[in-house]
Amino acid sequence: MVRENEIRRAEVAVAPPVAEDAGLAFIGCIGTPWTSRLLCPRQGRLDGPDCRIELFAPWDEGLDGIEAYERLEVLYWLHESRRDLVRQSPRNDGSARGVFSLRSPVRPNPIGTSVVGLLRREGNMLIVRGLDCLDGTPLLDLKPDRTSFTPLAPPQPGDFETGA
Ligand code: SAM
Repeated sequence: MVRENEIRRAEVAVAPPVAEDAGLAFIGCIGTPWTSRLLCPRQGRLDGPDCRIELFAPWDEGLDGIEAYERLEVLYWLHESRRDLVRQSPRNDGSARGVFSLRSPVRPNPIGTSVVGLLRREGNMLIVRGLDCLDGTPLLDLKPDRTSFTPLAPPQPGDFETGA
């Protein structure tokens, strides 16, 4: 059951520790058709609607080479999430589970991840499919999907023989 910021029966809120500043910076912004959490898909689909990932300067230059990949991992900050529910009730049925056994957007550090299909690049903008976040969600990072990425640097001790 999709949630906004309510606390449900059996859920447990905690007093989060004082934030330590990890120095996270939003490097871009995600444009999607969804303006309400109640309408967002719970997980993105590769046949979902076109979405836009805009990179802010100076990180737009970091898109160089990205067209070589059909699939990307996108990390984003679920900025409207509450962060204090250690036990949650996804079904809102009186039972609750620990946050780390769920992919709920409500997390101590609300980072969302999706594997998206890259359709094309338009300057500092990527057009992708496979997202599940609100319009205006801040972007944290982008990487080639690990299943199609081969390290560019020479192998090193600890790599699997087939490459890691
Ligand atoms: N695919 C990501 C993952 O697995 O890490 C996110 C999954 S999470 C279940 C997706 C849900 O988060 C959406 O259905 C919506 O209810 C909620 N959501 C999307 N964007 C959000 C945002 N910017 N702030 C808070 N909640 C958001």
